[in-house]
Amino acid sequence: MDKLGKKQISIKEFDANATTNSSTVIRRYGKWNDALKIAGASLNNTFYSDEELLSNIKDAWLKKGTQPSRRDMDNKDYSIISSGTYLRHFGTWYKALDCFVSYISDNKDIVSNEIEIDNNTNRTTIKHKTKRDPSDRLKVQVLMRDGNKCRICGAVCSGGLHNIHFDHIIPWSKGGETVLENLQVLCSVCNEAKGNM
Ligand SMILES: [Zn+2]
Repeated sequence: MDKLGKKQISIKEFDANATTNSSTVIRRYGKWNDALKIAGASLNNTFYSDEELLSNIKDAWLKKGTQPSRRDMDNKDYSIISSGTYLRHFGTWYKALDCFVSYISDNKDIVSNEIEIDNNTNRTTIKHKTKRDPSDRLKVQVLMRDGNKCRICGAVCSGGLHNIHFDHIIPWSKGGETVLENLQVLCSVCNEAKGNM
């Protein structure tokens, strides 16, 4: 399983790569999925790569709107990977979060600088170096920096993503880029108020 580097393995793939026949495994464990669960528990996380584990924390952070606790990782609404898997992989939840901070700071959002020319009007538009919508990774960076709070009123973003707005401080339409320095967390109320100004 480790060899294939996958989370799931089909019976067919197993027979092609393993020395044991799948029918032996099924005879022993009853169901294929039960065998996978047992294998996952005994192989100490060969199911998940660092990237998958850290990306899942990112998703949980965005779903919750604030930093997920170890216990949150056992909440299916936030996380698809259990806290036990994190503890086996990283040792402690604190260490997992420590790795997460390095992971999330690795900014890959700057795209190449392109000149956009409108073929109809022949006018050049603002040359953005970034994409308008922040990546999930960047969203978590903004939440971390702003303490998961609205930068205007200080409301804690507890209601998940639907209450959180990632606002361009210098508007995108005025050339503001989608970078950490130009983004802020706003609650829906303050975001609407800013929009009406
Ligand atoms: Zn607010």
